[in-house]
Amino acid sequence: MVLGMAMESELPHEKLKSIRQILDSEPLLPPTLLELLSWASTYYHHSIGEVIATALPVLLRRGLSAAATGEKRYALTDEAHQVPTETFQRSPLQRRLFQAMCQHAEGMQAAALAEVAENWRDAMKRLEARGLIRITEEPCLLSKSADRHLIPQRSPTQEEASATIRAALGRFQCLLLHGVTGSGKTEVYLSVIEDVLARGGQVLVLVPEIGLTPQLIKRFEGRLTAPVAVMHSGLNESERLCAWQAARTELAAVVIGTRSAVYTPMPKLALIIIDEEHDASFKQQDGFRYHARDVAIKRARLEGLPVLLGSATPALESLHNAQQGRYQLLSLPERAGAAQPPVVTLLDLRRLKLNEGLSPPLIEALQTRLLRQEQSLLFLNRRGFAPVLMCHDCGWLAPCKRCDARLTLHRDVRVSREAGSRERPFHQRSRQLRCHHCGAEAPLPVNCPACGSGNLHGIGEGTERIETALARLFPQARVERIDRDSTRRKGSLEEKLRRVHAGEADILVGTQMLTKGHDFPNLTLVGVLNADQGLYSADFRSEERLVQQLVQVAGRAGRADKPGEVLIQTFHPDNPVFAALAHHDYREFGRYALAERAAAHYPPFAHLALLRAESPKPDAALAFLRAAHTLAEALTEAEVVHLMDAVPSPMERRAGRYRAQLLVQAGERKALHDFLSAWLKRLEHEKRGRQVRWSLDVDPVEMF
Ligand code: ADP
Ligand code: ZN
Ligand code: ZN
Repeated sequence: MVLGMAMESELPHEKLKSIRQILDSEPLLPPTLLELLSWASTYYHHSIGEVIATALPVLLRRGLSAAATGEKRYALTDEAHQVPTETFQRSPLQRRLFQAMCQHAEGMQAAALAEVAENWRDAMKRLEARGLIRITEEPCLLSKSADRHLIPQRSPTQEEASATIRAALGRFQCLLLHGVTGSGKTEVYLSVIEDVLARGGQVLVLVPEIGLTPQLIKRFEGRLTAPVAVMHSGLNESERLCAWQAARTELAAVVIGTRSAVYTPMPKLALIIIDEEHDASFKQQDGFRYHARDVAIKRARLEGLPVLLGSATPALESLHNAQQGRYQLLSLPERAGAAQPPVVTLLDLRRLKLNEGLSPPLIEALQTRLLRQEQSLLFLNRRGFAPVLMCHDCGWLAPCKRCDARLTLHRDVRVSREAGSRERPFHQRSRQLRCHHCGAEAPLPVNCPACGSGNLHGIGEGTERIETALARLFPQARVERIDRDSTRRKGSLEEKLRRVHAGEADILVGTQMLTKGHDFPNLTLVGVLNADQGLYSADFRSEERLVQQLVQVAGRAGRADKPGEVLIQTFHPDNPVFAALAHHDYREFGRYALAERAAAHYPPFAHLALLRAESPKPDAALAFLRAAHTLAEALTEAEVVHLMDAVPSPMERRAGRYRAQLLVQAGERKALHDFLSAWLKRLEHEKRGRQVRWSLDVDPVEMF
């Protein structure tokens, strides 16, 4: 990658490389994007080479030229339609393809063909050789759905928010749209996007990993007439390159993408929208650790355009910025249309007896929904059957060999059910122990390895156990479990969501995958099974994350004309976290949590960087960080920052590696960065650093 030219270099001659071949006829990245990447390299203290590599599609990094490519579409030629099927008597594969393509006059792409026959490519070549196939290439844009969605009559608050955003077009400004769940934020986005498109501009929409649901895409498809490109982790490399090209050549007017889409070149970019801006998936947690929201704001500043952050539960940093007047705050305090906020009730577990994780009032509420033919959602943040396996005779707990953690008991219920069939699912059980931290798997022991007893039991509840309990309590109910295990196969999440929307499910059980963005009109009950997880954790952000999760999951209830109810099971009903939830006042929580942050000198009132190290050898990581600490003390730049002691990570051993960390805190951003630059220069020469793997995380989100 040639970034610039110089007539002289400080480096020795033999270290310089010659240009052997020029791959592209024009610069790949526009100057403002290069400027952004170079800023990111400095800000995150990460090498420019790796930063640029993150911004480019893999195929370009491998040296493919940036000439436009598209996805191949195969269709029958006019002559082929005259050919009788009997022609392919002796090659069943060719016949299958031919028949499938007869039914798709518009042609078929690789994914669809692979469903007809896995090894379709050879047969396709033969058909092609006979002159029966026409191949076209097309950019991978969203296909336009025929059914155009109706535009609701926008409320005065929606109109006001849209107008304010519109007025900001053409210059840098950061706007925070705080709208309660179901308040119609997406409507506001769409209305402003339409405006930008009418003026010939492009729009970049960033969404969380999980937020990129088929439903959101359908909504954009159904409403926008302009071409839309989608970028997410599910694309293969040629699809990704294709979408990137479509954006760069202005073929795509709108790009919807996850984190790394923030680096997409868009010559006519006029607006950036970040939906669910509080979401942790905007932070890259390994390699080049950047925060896509913060990079987006920098990009907007460089390119002189507005950036809109939207959320029902804004990050405390963003709320603070709005309070300080750095962001313009827009509010949608009420739900759209006829929908009312759900009624939130706390179920005090100190006085209730649980039946496999479910309290009597919750079971009764589920029963009521089943009678009314309405849907319910049960949320718990633990997949698997039970979080620990314990020996009831000696107290042995199944440990992971490679982590300081317990193994989770899984009892996967593999459901084989024809879509739409009303038959009871066929259960096939396979039991296993799995580590949720390193992925290790182990068979379930028959006897306790410590005392030999056979008295082994799973303790606590995971989503699988709740699913089983529901099948026993409500044999007639159709239960849909949605977690990472049940949606591993490609397309299975889409299929599950489709069943929920089609009314083919009565009770949904799931992890945080279910909490965000979904709009299920017939869902009127949300039950939170273990709200206390995360209440008293070492991470200073855990409470914020808990409230965000609870508000989001509660927001799935009663989104249409039927009122919603939220039941929260907790041992700590007096915790102020729940008060804010019951009052539907997230900003009340924000005020109290920000005051706590200020008192403790945590972000946004201080700036943090975390130096992490890990090694297969015990103590090597800690020894390196201690050396790093000593090095830092000698630096004058260290006088204005605060260095904590190097400590083992909260879960010290993970996947066979011992981990440690060192936190740096500073009142001023500039002081922090001056210190980090000086420190890193020294660290690169620290010999203990060569025996461990270490990395620096600027503005860390996860504290371990
Ligand atoms: P949010 O993104 O804030 O959660 P959505 O934009 O998904 O909210 O809107 C929630 C539901 O309300 C959607 O079904 C949407 O079509 C509907 N909706 C949005 N705005 C209006 C309106 N002004 N009048 C009626 N229904 C609306
Ligand atoms: Zn035992
Ligand atoms: Zn493990």
